[in-house]
Amino acid sequence: MTEGMLEGRKVIVTGASRGIGKGIAIKFAREGASVGINYVSGHEDARCVLEEVNELSRGLLLNGDVAKEEDALMMVDNFVKRYGGIDILVNNAGIYIRKDMEGSFVEDYDRTMNVNVRGAFLLCKFALPYLKRSPYGRIINLSSQLAYKGSTHGTAYVTSKTALIGLTRSLALELAPYGITVNAIAPGTIDTDIIAGYTKEQRKERAESIPIKRIGTPGDIADAALFLASDMGSYVVGEVIGVNGGSALH
Ligand code: NAD
Repeated sequence: MTEGMLEGRKVIVTGASRGIGKGIAIKFAREGASVGINYVSGHEDARCVLEEVNELSRGLLLNGDVAKEEDALMMVDNFVKRYGGIDILVNNAGIYIRKDMEGSFVEDYDRTMNVNVRGAFLLCKFALPYLKRSPYGRIINLSSQLAYKGSTHGTAYVTSKTALIGLTRSLALELAPYGITVNAIAPGTIDTDIIAGYTKEQRKERAESIPIKRIGTPGDIADAALFLASDMGSYVVGEVIGVNGGSALH
């Protein structure tokens, strides 16, 4: 039997009950990783992901809100108690409140920043002592192509995804001397609940507008995450990798 690319590595994936996080959790399990599956709601979905992960390697459910300090700390503690350390952290949990500025409440901004940015900051902070002890330390943050393009109906979201690029670059510089790589992925439009509101017609139009003529899949993003998490990505530091079918080109 050949070894997987992440054999024996210990990974926490936030927001892994569905969508891109689920895709990453399953792909990493297939490569031999032990996977901490964080989710805040949707226990049944998370349990199904755990079942799939356990068929491939081994996993642990980590229920908690990444925006809450006590939850983030508890998740890290519970994972380390079970597996003895952390090699890879994937900050994937995110929310997108689709509103223009006039329709937005201050609470929308606060919640978006708390989940998308504060959550990643907290997980990085609490995982850091363990990542430093790992010979394979990796942090992967999920940004968005909208960080570069902007959006007419998502100022808070775009602000949060741009902030994640700052977090990525600064932490990459700070942690590179410890052999920990920190990078971000900037997905284009990916087929998950985040675009569940699209009508059939909107999906068709969206696909047509992408140079490669299709909406992306969680698997497309999980492949990029696997590259960054594996030994193949060990010299990639502080980068933002676009995975968008060419839509960043116009
Ligand atoms: P999704 O809505 O399908 O899944 C988001 C996940 O995050 C869910 O598991 C949800 O339970 C979890 N989550 C939300 N709030 C949380 C919290 N406070 N604590 C813990 N978990 C929480 O979204 P997705 O499309 O899979 O997106 C995953 C990431 O990729 C997000 O950060 C998103 O911004 C980013 N992204 C997605 C797209 C896209 O087109 N789908 C494009 C660019 C970037």
